[in-house]
Amino acid sequence: MNNHPVCFVGAGPGAPDLITLRGRRLLDEADLIVYAGSLVNPVLLEGVRGEVHDSAGLDLDRIMDLVVPAARAGKRVVRLHTGDPAIYGAIREQMRRLDAEGIAYEVVPGVSSALAAAASLKTELTVPELTQTVIFTRQAGRTPVPERESLRNLAAIRASMCIFLSVSMMEEVAGELMAGGYPEDTPVAVVEKATWPGERIVRGRLADIARRIREAGMKKTAMILVGQALGEADSAESRLYASGFSHGYRRGR
Ligand code: SAH
Repeated sequence: MNNHPVCFVGAGPGAPDLITLRGRRLLDEADLIVYAGSLVNPVLLEGVRGEVHDSAGLDLDRIMDLVVPAARAGKRVVRLHTGDPAIYGAIREQMRRLDAEGIAYEVVPGVSSALAAAASLKTELTVPELTQTVIFTRQAGRTPVPERESLRNLAAIRASMCIFLSVSMMEEVAGELMAGGYPEDTPVAVVEKATWPGERIVRGRLADIARRIREAGMKKTAMILVGQALGEADSAESRLYASGFSHGYRRGR
């Protein structure tokens, strides 16, 4: 068994100080770092002492050709993924390969771009009496999505939605959401390169967001947030801090 588990580390959304302390320490100690170059901010890799490889141009076999021998040789290996590795991170197949090789691994969470985008918008995605549910999803593209969880079907729930990997299909996204049941004045915000220098935000409604995105020329690395939670509408206040509400840590007045 390898004495240092291979570490799948969430790099966070972009800003180099939005990685966890644990992730930062593992990067600094690593002998080998294989990072998802298409989305991970390279500033995170400045000053590391380990060997660094960009996985953007590598297939799964080539990635494993780097990771497996290094882990076997007792090196500290970090596989650096954007945001949180559990969301569209393609870590499952890498972990299956490591299982087959008898190599131990761990996962270190990161700040997903969905939550970084919500922070940039200064929004709460769960608003009492409006919605208490957040859906992480995507529009079907070259990667299919099971029909039962198509945007059209999910729209019927009218929860807050964080839509990944889909800004290049904004027209279809908005169309499906309206066809599925969101009113056309439902607020939408798109955050491009959340927390990076040059982050951009476009706000609109389902009926006009596709045009606004086209005019802004946003084509990739953007998070689409949809739902009434993004709007100005009056909502109930959470009971958590309400004066009359008792819970385990506080007795209400
Ligand atoms: N594991 C990542 C998601 C990887 S899928 C996470 O948790 O964030 C890649 C998609 O994530 C992109 O198409 C885009 O929709 C979104 N994304 C990643 N980084 C982003 C950022 N800084 N700003 C906005 N969206 C981002």
